[in-house]
Amino acid sequence: MAPDSEEDDDWTKYADTGYATSYDPWADLVPTTEIEEEEFDDDFDEFDDVEQSRRDVPRCPAPSGIEHAIRIGTCNHCLGRIAGVRIAGDPLQEVGGRVRDQALQRDPDVKPNDDIECCPFCENLFLELDIIANRIVSSVEGIEFSKVQLGIHFSKDHVAAEEVLRSTVAATGCRPLKATLSDAIQSTVAERLPGINWVKERPEVMLLFDTLTLGVNADIRALFLYGRYRKLERGIPQTRWPCRACRGRDGGCESCNGTGQQYPHSIQSLVCEPLIESIGASSDAFHGMGREDIDVRCLGDGRPFVAELKSPTRRTLDLEKLMNSINKAAKNRIEIHGLRHSNRAEVSRIKETQAEKSYTIRFTCEHELADEELTNRIQSLSGQVLEQQTPQRVAHRRADKIRKRKVVSIENILIEDQEIQFDVRCESGTYVKELVHSDEGRTNPSVAGLLETDCEVISLDVKDIHAD
Ligand SMILES: [Zn+2]
Ligand SMILES: [Zn+2]
Repeated sequence: MAPDSEEDDDWTKYADTGYATSYDPWADLVPTTEIEEEEFDDDFDEFDDVEQSRRDVPRCPAPSGIEHAIRIGTCNHCLGRIAGVRIAGDPLQEVGGRVRDQALQRDPDVKPNDDIECCPFCENLFLELDIIANRIVSSVEGIEFSKVQLGIHFSKDHVAAEEVLRSTVAATGCRPLKATLSDAIQSTVAERLPGINWVKERPEVMLLFDTLTLGVNADIRALFLYGRYRKLERGIPQTRWPCRACRGRDGGCESCNGTGQQYPHSIQSLVCEPLIESIGASSDAFHGMGREDIDVRCLGDGRPFVAELKSPTRRTLDLEKLMNSINKAAKNRIEIHGLRHSNRAEVSRIKETQAEKSYTIRFTCEHELADEELTNRIQSLSGQVLEQQTPQRVAHRRADKIRKRKVVSIENILIEDQEIQFDVRCESGTYVKELVHSDEGRTNPSVAGLLETDCEVISLDVKDIHAD
């Protein structure tokens, strides 16, 4: 199976990718810069100006490099980052402050040039840590979460300019701006929100910070719950079904009593509405392992589903209690069991699973066959491969083609005069009603064909879904 695709959006590409990733071709030239410059000056007259200027700039951790960094306005955070003297554990701005003090002791005149407006590395982002942290904290106010991921978006120009500057001024091996800023933001926020965990994948809240606007966007990830439902009453669709007359717009119409829904209940509404209320979610999606027709019950162990609850404000759930209240409210219509936490990957799994299913089907037909002959004819379908042309009842939404589906077994044939019932296990995607009435010959073979008479389906139940 494909890896969890929960984090399949654009945010992750902004996420902190860790330690220095770019190879610096000038790094090994640094210690001997001056000698090489003297030697090469005459020979490389045509040498590119930018390349040349790189050689003229002294680099950290040389004292002249640190003085240069101070003159161009490097802030203490960035000085601590680029000076190449970092002492593990100390905050960067303290390290930078010490580096600056030492430079001043060597030369009291070392200070930023007069025309400097901001730190050329970070554009003063490190001075905004308080503001950034405050915005993050207020963006998640009232939201229950522990796992949070931070993504930082820089302008391309800023990233490029900082790269160039770093490769000419900073000590070799200096951490990139994004990783350093990310760490600084994370520790500042953690002081204000004790108990949160910064993660690199599967967050409950994804934060995106934009360095241009200082804007923060909090994406609260959906909560997924897996369970199985049994549908005890016919006439309930699996998902919400907008009213045919008003399409659910403008607060409904007369024919739907203002509900906007074609049917008063759906499995989705019966399962998800109590969940939404309980966890303070904004909306839901309902993912079933296939679906039964509206007039078909689903019995046995029930049908697997995943409920997706969007933008939840609470995540601590008493699943047993929730399940009980769902079942109580939906009494005699549906019931669910086995509720547990899930994820987006499981949505794909249950959508892709081609489970065999068992049904109980009951139909009526006019026949004059002896019970044994009738039983034998129906039983002969067991193990056969059906050719099913797209049924007329779904032709408006499915491509018209012939599908081959296997009847795995037929059991428990029951004959009560003109009413006949049997259990059938078949491949996923079999049209079971058509297996009986033949859809005017579009399904072959069929019960109607074998009995040489018309058959009318009375009822159909899903008896079991052979999954998990
Ligand atoms: Zn800076
Ligand atoms: Zn309506």
